[in-house]
Amino acid sequence: MRFTAFGAARNVTGSKHLLSVGPSRVLLDCGLFQGHREESERRNRGFPFEPASIGAVLLSHAHIDHSGSLPSLVKAGFRGRILATGATADLTEVLLRDSAHLQAHDAEYLNAKRRRGEPTVTPVYTPADVEQAVARLTVVDYDRPVQAAPGVSVTYRDAGHILGSSLLEITARERDQTRAIVFTGDLGRPGMPILRDPYQPCEADVLITESTYGAREHASLTAADDRLARFVSRVAARRGKIIIPAFAVGRTQAVLYQLHALMRAGRVPGIPIYVDSPLAIRATELFERHPECFDAEMNALLRRNDDPLGFDRVTYVNDARDSKALGRRQGPMIVVSASGMCEGGRVLHHLREAVGSRRNAIMIVGYQAEGTLGSRIAEGADRVRILGETLALRAEVAVFDELSAHADGRGLAAFAGGFRRAPSSTIVVHGSEENALALARRLSLDGFPRVSVPFDGESFDL
Ligand SMILES: [Zn+2]
Repeated sequence: MRFTAFGAARNVTGSKHLLSVGPSRVLLDCGLFQGHREESERRNRGFPFEPASIGAVLLSHAHIDHSGSLPSLVKAGFRGRILATGATADLTEVLLRDSAHLQAHDAEYLNAKRRRGEPTVTPVYTPADVEQAVARLTVVDYDRPVQAAPGVSVTYRDAGHILGSSLLEITARERDQTRAIVFTGDLGRPGMPILRDPYQPCEADVLITESTYGAREHASLTAADDRLARFVSRVAARRGKIIIPAFAVGRTQAVLYQLHALMRAGRVPGIPIYVDSPLAIRATELFERHPECFDAEMNALLRRNDDPLGFDRVTYVNDARDSKALGRRQGPMIVVSASGMCEGGRVLHHLREAVGSRRNAIMIVGYQAEGTLGSRIAEGADRVRILGETLALRAEVAVFDELSAHADGRGLAAFAGGFRRAPSSTIVVHGSEENALALARRLSLDGFPRVSVPFDGESFDL
């Protein structure tokens, strides 16, 4: 039995882990690598293994850094099933189509700027490739074991990270050897809005854990609510705009839920909220279609007809002209828009209009990868480059890491410590080097034997 990390090894992108059990090979996630252009090109156009040899993909959740290379995998010869929960399958379909659309758009833009003699840019995959991958999505229920490949069975459990997200309990059998393997995917936090809490499995011989915030400690969600209430009230009082760059899937809905709770409790004024992202609109529709993923609080709100994703203060903006007009409007108001790391999308023109005034504020609610505009804003840079212009950043910047959909160092360690006995080996993936090593150190100090932080392409016997 062997495990190989082919992505998200000492970084957070392109999750792709190969599990070989006897003659069976299954892939845990198949994410797109997102980073500098040349490296992304190289990594996203080929696979370091033979795709036709993979029996099945076990997909933990829909985020593109976990699902975004599925069309390439199918194009390169993969003919097995892609196992996912119903909500993950629906969200993956929407996100993959969006990814093909963005790639076509980028290629068109780069080709228009191309100098003579430079090669033409082509998308990594097309909408037709996406449909081939979507056709292979196979829905599995939570909490019910399924046979993924000979010798490999898997049970999908709640991960509490985004709608449909799962951690995987895998039983691998090779000759007379059986191993219980737990793969966290992206692990959420107890008490997160809308979703049920992460499930705690009892047994694991091998734990493969994410470590996005392995070196960090989030404030409690209650403390986050208090801070959020003070922040929104302060900006509303000076009639400013609050721009919230947020991932269309998950973050946007969680932010709406929290604003709804604060407004209903009268803790912040009921200023207008605009969700300006066609993708977020589609994602929200899918949320409404999967109440089986909701926690008791969310279900109680829906029973009372008080939908936090569609209450009276919220307006969804689909049309691009309405979006432009909204950018020019004065506050007080809240604009939730994508992309989450400010690398593209409609949030850019909102930021361009808003950053110059001290009256406005930018609220950072998600992970910001190094080198992105979002990370420049989060660091409080004096100047930022937006849509080709260098602009002074005078707006207030508030970073709300505590609203993160990822467990922090303490949460990850508590999860790893929640098994009946410590796993005999632990593999730490999906975190920057700093975060992955910090979590590994913490687990080693807690007495976990054999904690490894793989380099890209590194293999382990299980
Ligand atoms: Zn994720």
